[in-house]
Amino acid sequence: METFQFSRPTTIGQAIQLGAKASTAQQVADVRFVAGGTTLVDLMKLNVERPRQLVDINLLPMEKIETTAEGGLVIGALARNADVARHPVVLRDYAVLSEALLSGASPQLRNMATTGGNLLQRTRCVYFRDTVHACNKREPGSGCSAIGGHNRMLAILGTSKDCIASNPSDQNVALTALEATIQVEGPRGKRTIPINDFYLLPGSTPHRETVLEPGDVIVSVTLPPPRGVKSHYLKLRDRAAYEFALASAAIVLRLNGKKIEHVRVAMGGVGTRPWRSLEAEHVLQGRTVEMETFRRAAEAALKDARPASENGFKVELAKRCLVRALVTATATA
Ligand SMILES: Cc1cc2nc3c(=O)[nH]c(=O)nc-3n(C[C@H](O)[C@H](O)[C@H](O)COP(=O)(O)OP(=O)(O)OC[C@H]3O[C@@H](n4cnc5c(N)ncnc54)[C@H](O)[C@@H]3O)c2cc1C
Ligand code: SF4
Repeated sequence: METFQFSRPTTIGQAIQLGAKASTAQQVADVRFVAGGTTLVDLMKLNVERPRQLVDINLLPMEKIETTAEGGLVIGALARNADVARHPVVLRDYAVLSEALLSGASPQLRNMATTGGNLLQRTRCVYFRDTVHACNKREPGSGCSAIGGHNRMLAILGTSKDCIASNPSDQNVALTALEATIQVEGPRGKRTIPINDFYLLPGSTPHRETVLEPGDVIVSVTLPPPRGVKSHYLKLRDRAAYEFALASAAIVLRLNGKKIEHVRVAMGGVGTRPWRSLEAEHVLQGRTVEMETFRRAAEAALKDARPASENGFKVELAKRCLVRALVTATATA
């Protein structure tokens, strides 16, 4: 780890000013915000992240979880994953988020990890985390060691010839199915970004992961009023705890009798970003709950999958994950 300066702003304005010196919020940067530190500090120890200045945002007033006048929920960017998962409104109206959070990491990590930090957690691609190897995400233009290397955990959807890294988050899959919006304050003022527009596909610039710009602070995440009365998050992984997803699925739906009136489908572990499947939703919308429809939805969701040398098994695994999540969600509806 290299030496760095440390500052603790007490207002969002001060944090924006300090952060604006960063080259981009997702690139090798001179300035980094730190929240729970569970991603950033690890990467600093590995010399993957080498900020000259660390801006601790923990004194900013961004930790509250509050209902909105419209019946939604605003989750402060500094709300800890453990507190969000146990919040009574989340448990009642957004259970898919609680399930996703509780499936991730460990109790100790969830006590530290924040909503904003989780949105920006980095890939677990082993080559990204080891500076000996070429990695376009860590060092643009250096090459991708995972294509043709160890890629069992990596993505099969949204990949490019320059990067096949998967987005590792569970939280963000649930937030995608819930159609969350992200409130950002930065040098350009305040803006609200739908989560589906927040993450970028790798293309030829895998070092750019989101639409955030230098100095942008994630202030909160807003969940719209609950539209689906039932939901489910299913995570499939190599061991039952403390492991990232090989494939996961978040379902939010509302039934009228056996008819699917509203449905949102998102997948994790398989995409280069939290993966909303409009294709699956299209198959399911307005149809009757039945196995054949679920299978067709899963086929549609994975039709563009492009596996690498070691992760072809994920195509079938993700389909089965989606079908099982739909069975569970509709069984309890
Ligand atoms: C051993 C281990 C196992 C894990 N297992 C899982 C798992 O199974 N599932 C899963 O989903 N996650 C898992 N995680 C990841 C964990 O969820 C993340 O590390 C955590 O959510 C990051 O939050 P943080 O607050 O600690 O972020 P930090 O490390 O503080 O920050 C992460 C990034 O976000 C930026 N940032 C933070 N807050 C803001 C903000 N408000 N505005 C702008 N930028 C910000 C920082 O600059 C940094 O680039 C695991 C982590 C570890 C170490
Ligand atoms: S898959 Fe992406 S993160 Fe992994 S080595 Fe290739 S460029 Fe780097």
